[in-house]
Amino acid sequence: MKTAVFPGSFDPLTNGHVDIVHRSLTIFDRVVVGVLANSSKQPLFTVEERIELIEAQFQPLGERVVVRSFSGLLVDFVATVGTTLVVRGLRAISDYDYEAQMALMNKNLDDRVETFFLMAREENSYVSSSLVKQVAPLGGDVSKLVPPVVRIALQSRFKELRERQEK
Ligand code: ADP
Repeated sequence: MKTAVFPGSFDPLTNGHVDIVHRSLTIFDRVVVGVLANSSKQPLFTVEERIELIEAQFQPLGERVVVRSFSGLLVDFVATVGTTLVVRGLRAISDYDYEAQMALMNKNLDDRVETFFLMAREENSYVSSSLVKQVAPLGGDVSKLVPPVVRIALQSRFKELRERQEK
């Protein structure tokens, strides 16, 4: 059974991420979505909330999609999962530099680890979690950017934040 780890921040999960998971499952038997917990960024959703949203989205796929949090080195997490395969999405040329650095670094850290890249679909090539976080609080329509479960979570999170500010 071939298992691939799909690591990221997923703050929040977007249609771009969803597409990468679905396409990965045409190549691998199982995808372990690894939610990075030691990110320096101030997240909109906690790791637990992000995991819940990802699990809700992929629940129909059963055991083929597993969601875990991790901190520390990706190569260590990959070893814990019991695989050597990593999958990442590539959007514009701007993703390339960073992704190449990461993949080469991970190869240096553990030569067995192979990173596979799937090209973002054209309609998702401008979709990013940070764009979603800019548009959603301003009342912009994010229904083409994120799955419904995330859209609803965004609405309630920004409502909470607005109410907190008004107090
Ligand atoms: P990170 O902070 O590790 O970049 P992200 O959650 O932003 O975490 O992204 C996780 C992975 O998903 C990365 O490989 C990223 O390139 C990929 N990705 C992000 N957005 C898209 C998208 N719209 N289409 C395809 N892949 C994407």
